[in-house]
Amino acid sequence: MYIVMLGAPGSGKGSAAKILAKKTALPHISTGDMFREQIKKETELGKLANSYISKGQLVPDEVTINIVKDRLNWEDATNGVILDGFPRTIEQAKALDEFLKGQGKSVTLVPEIIIPDQVIIERILNRATCSNKECGAIYNTKFKPPKIEGICDICGAPLSIRNDDNEETIKSRLEVYRQNSKDLVEYYKENGVWTSITPDDPTAGNASDQVVETILKLTK
Ligand code: AMP
Repeated sequence: MYIVMLGAPGSGKGSAAKILAKKTALPHISTGDMFREQIKKETELGKLANSYISKGQLVPDEVTINIVKDRLNWEDATNGVILDGFPRTIEQAKALDEFLKGQGKSVTLVPEIIIPDQVIIERILNRATCSNKECGAIYNTKFKPPKIEGICDICGAPLSIRNDDNEETIKSRLEVYRQNSKDLVEYYKENGVWTSITPDDPTAGNASDQVVETILKLTK
């Protein structure tokens, strides 16, 4: 099962992708997480990626497609993956299809999470993520705060704030998403795999669980 999670930054696609990955026992592949790991390690790829990410721009397709292809070749990805943040452009979507076609597979479902902009901005500005890579739990200091400030409920590691989660960058990230998602949605609609999910109350603590339940029903 190859699921492509679509949704603006802060729409909750990362949280839903994590839950979905656990429930399906498929790997969660987040290009944003992959880039952040490279930035942390101060690799050449990390430096290059950071020059785009810090401005809220997309990392070039060629670079992004290559790291995803490499990851899809891992053995744990043979039965499917939950893609989060990839593809973000038509070129990436086509490269993914081509890759999967080569293995006799195709994208199963493309759920797009639709959330009002105001909620998105509030969410991003209040987002805190567990710094432990194995855990990566996502909190909202307003809507879903940790029990102890700055500490992950699940593993006890300190929470961190993403560098690109600031008001300046958010606007450009939302704009980039709007520009690219139109074509992506068209592309996946034509392929018959796109579906939209609008949570009843996106600020509810269990909004991501509801999104995941909907996706699981649609893939049965
Ligand atoms: P995310 O964690 O998905 O919000 O991604 C954070 C940032 O990483 C984005 O704003 C982009 O700069 C970059 N990025 C992540 N995924 C991609 C992608 N598929 N193509 C290009 N850039 C990406």
